[in-house]
Amino acid sequence: MKKKISFAKFDAELNTDCCDPYNNAELTLTLRMGFKQINPSGGADKGTYHDYGDATEPTRKIIKWTATSWTNWKTNFVSSAEAFWTGKFWLINDSGSFPFTKGTATYYPNVWCRFKLVGNESTVAGNHHTIDVVRLDPSESWFGSHSTLYDSKDTNSVKKATTSAGKKVMQRAHVHEVGHLLGLDHVDVGKPHCPAAGDTNAGMCYGVADADKLAVMGSGMQLRLENAYPWREALRAFALEELMMAAMGNPLLLALGRVSLSMPVASITSVWPAKMQRHYPRTEAELRAGTMITARPKRPL
Ligand SMILES: [Zn+2]
Repeated sequence: MKKKISFAKFDAELNTDCCDPYNNAELTLTLRMGFKQINPSGGADKGTYHDYGDATEPTRKIIKWTATSWTNWKTNFVSSAEAFWTGKFWLINDSGSFPFTKGTATYYPNVWCRFKLVGNESTVAGNHHTIDVVRLDPSESWFGSHSTLYDSKDTNSVKKATTSAGKKVMQRAHVHEVGHLLGLDHVDVGKPHCPAAGDTNAGMCYGVADADKLAVMGSGMQLRLENAYPWREALRAFALEELMMAAMGNPLLLALGRVSLSMPVASITSVWPAKMQRHYPRTEAELRAGTMITARPKRPL
């Protein structure tokens, strides 16, 4: 079974056709980004552009995109951001969802979290997010970017912070920005020094402790379990849909008027905890016992 749900920030597809005792269900989030060239005015080869696209800010030297530089930049953006986010999380099935039978055994798959980034021109319909991109002159090392205005160096690894031991914290900005596009906040949002109701772009929100600075939603490149949030939220929608379909196909539940009562409970109590290591589908007994299967020897089942 392949099912799709379109969310505001991305499209989600759940594939259970790939399930067997060794392979989990796969949840793929697809983000379509539209890219638009910003070139020097009047068709010139060289020009300037204001930081943040704001006429009151300083200008930086920019150069005209060529067909090759544009294609290469987009390809690098898409492939590196996709590689960073895809295939890193497994969500553990704690709600008894999506059972399948193999031989005499019933298995419950976990869900492997995949990511697909589609790089379109901004003129293509259906993009979830569009950005303008300036091509910086080689002599420029910095440009004021924001969420809809990037520069060509935003895919480079740049020092964003320093640890307490004086070590550089490096980050490729586009990877962090794609995290935002998937719905993730800065690492310290919600802590006392970064109240969720305040300016969550303030410096403290990028992490104060070294471990938080190193997080991808801080100033570094490290993934955290909580970064599985977009996949988990999407999965809850699929799991709830499955429960409702099952209930609607059960005349007894319908007759008892328990459809609406029985549905939300299972979806509320299921957590789908994230892991950053492959966990194999579980049998009913393993699911009930709460056993995690991180190795399943290959043998006839
Ligand atoms: Zn950010």
